Amino acid sequence: MKFISTRKSQPQYTLSEALQFGLAPDGGLFVPTYFPKVDWKKFGPIKRSGDYAELAEVLLYDFFAGDLLSAHLQEICRAAFHFAIPTHKLDHGVEVLELFHGPTCAFKDVGARFLAEAITYVRGAGAPKSSPAQDSAKSASRPRMVLVATSGDTGGAVGAAFSNKSDVRVVILYPQGRISQRQEQQLTCWGPNVQAYAVRGAFDDCQKLVKAAFLSEVWRQRWQLISANSISLGRLLPQMVYYAGASLEHYYRTGEAAHFIVPTGNLGNAVAGFWAREMGFPIAKIGLALNANAAIAQYFQSGEWKPLPTQETLANAMDVGAASNMERLRHLFPRVEDLREVSRVNVATDNEIRAAIQSVDAQYKYIICPHTATGFVAAKKWGWPSATILATAHPAKFDDVVAPLIGRTVPVPAELESILHHEVERHELAPDLNALYEAVCS
Ligand SMILES: *Cc1c(COP(=O)(O)O)cnc(C)c1O
Repeated sequence: MKFISTRKSQPQYTLSEALQFGLAPDGGLFVPTYFPKVDWKKFGPIKRSGDYAELAEVLLYDFFAGDLLSAHLQEICRAAFHFAIPTHKLDHGVEVLELFHGPTCAFKDVGARFLAEAITYVRGAGAPKSSPAQDSAKSASRPRMVLVATSGDTGGAVGAAFSNKSDVRVVILYPQGRISQRQEQQLTCWGPNVQAYAVRGAFDDCQKLVKAAFLSEVWRQRWQLISANSISLGRLLPQMVYYAGASLEHYYRTGEAAHFIVPTGNLGNAVAGFWAREMGFPIAKIGLALNANAAIAQYFQSGEWKPLPTQETLANAMDVGAASNMERLRHLFPRVEDLREVSRVNVATDNEIRAAIQSVDAQYKYIICPHTATGFVAAKKWGWPSATILATAHPAKFDDVVAPLIGRTVPVPAELESILHHEVERHELAPDLNALYEAVCS
């Protein structure tokens, strides 16, 4: 399998190259040259519900084929899928796919762990010989740096995933004052090779800094920069697995294709769902649940893509005005009409988010986070006969929002509990590339 940029069908890149570059040299995003069609009935029912390491290996085999990384596919899948991803049935029509049982209690643990593990072996296998994006002669000697902007959860997941990979430095940028206290704790507690900076600005400012650094000669001469944002193919590929697995479980239980509802910001999670659907897994529609950041909804209506300024909401990890994976979605569905056939979109206000947290707790005694709540708002509006809502984070991460609404504190899972006692280290930063450079070098 080879990979291309969303902007051009030539040249083609290997998987190792795509993982190392992050962004394609022409500024586009990497996508597979084709989607292998699977005969999913051959997989049969999943042996242990929610246990997807084996499925991952089978599903991702074709994407690794021909690359040096294929020798390590099994280890990489085991590292990424070492925690369960169970489906929780609330009632006849509503199921929740709990993606929050990883080390930082958010779905991003899957992609971050997969990427961290894969990158380890890319190094072991030697850097690719010719790299149009980077100065290849020096690429082996420069220290490696993961530079990542986060609207809340990416940074924690990436920090955790790389915390035991001491030869990779991780620099995390997050918008100051716009993430929950527990999220901040999870960004700033990973020890010597992971540093977090609170940027005086919004998430989009953090993302701009990362993009500027990747384009800067000064930065690229000093470090071999690795992207861990949801533009990274290493995060998207493994996410296909839980859509595939959950759709198989749904099919063997009900005889029907699954409808998924995905709380969405950058479209990183959702695009993986569309890719799994493209491979032929029994997936009917994929609904996109937004918070008040409505650019994607406007695109569905008008067919014109116009990013909007970021708005702060209760579902802060989805506070994105310019979804970076839109380019992948439009590459897959060049005509908006085709997208509308297989997808829907809904915008949830903060009031609707609050109401959903309360009503789901009242009706099912089940506590959801503000992001997952946007999925419930969409489910109610659409009234699909059955829907699997992706629970993207554990509600205990957002206790400050959730507890007052349900009138009690959220029980803290063991993974989070242990992190809350780590020592933290925080730095503040102006939204300026020179300031970042100085901070990182000092
Ligand atoms: C990142 C995140 C999202 C949004 O995911 P995208 O891939 O950016 O669409 C939703 N919920 C939570 C809890 C997140 O951390």
